[in-house]
Amino acid sequence: MSLDNTITLTGLILTSKNVGDYDKWVTILTRERGRVGAFVRGARRPKSRVVAAGNPMVYGTFTAYEGRDSISITGCDISEFFSHIKNDIDLVWYATYFMEVADFYGREHIDESERLRLLYRSLLALGEEEFSPAFVRMVYEFRTMVINGDAPNVFECMNCGKREFWTDGGEDEKPLAPYFSMNHRGLLCENCAKELGGEELSQAVLYAMYHMSVASIEKLFTFVLKDASLDKLCSIILRYRHRYMDHTFNSERFLDN
Ligand SMILES: [Zn+2]
Repeated sequence: MSLDNTITLTGLILTSKNVGDYDKWVTILTRERGRVGAFVRGARRPKSRVVAAGNPMVYGTFTAYEGRDSISITGCDISEFFSHIKNDIDLVWYATYFMEVADFYGREHIDESERLRLLYRSLLALGEEEFSPAFVRMVYEFRTMVINGDAPNVFECMNCGKREFWTDGGEDEKPLAPYFSMNHRGLLCENCAKELGGEELSQAVLYAMYHMSVASIEKLFTFVLKDASLDKLCSIILRYRHRYMDHTFNSERFLDN
């Protein structure tokens, strides 16, 4: 084994399954390589140094040996176990769903660092008192669609291109009333909505969509919505996602819809 084949991966273990008598196979969302699969040899031996790397929902640094056909984890330094989630079965389902989504959309050899930061931040947010799990889920799903390039366009009218949904503060200036069109995958102005249909959005809901589209991951969870607005936004995003992200996630059926 030459040193040249030793690699370091920073990331989050998404899935884990038993292989053979003592080993595990895991998928990891990494900063360096996107989503990769790896063996954790000896992970089920009680005194193994890599026991922690064999379990999903841990974040850390992994040393690994890269062979011709596979990667084998040889050491790990776990910095976050997300233990606030593991004591609450409801949160475990949300977290499992988040990881299943990341596992499905994550790709190898492309830069998945934003998806990794989104997942990490969302798992932490699941335990924070000011956020309901439904809120965290909505933000996570929306931003996942942004990363995938599937998110609705909340910057301009999808029919005429007008962008004056925001004023720059002038007193006489009245912003365009925003409407959302499922068919057009984004905003419509009032005039276009009269002709093409669409549901009216409050400024709060529009702002939330805008924020989730452009904020850095670090600032993503810095807005709040009143219950009625949150229900409205969750309903739009759920319908949008079911229409445009055509995949059923096993763990989703355990969540409230
Ligand atoms: Zn328009």
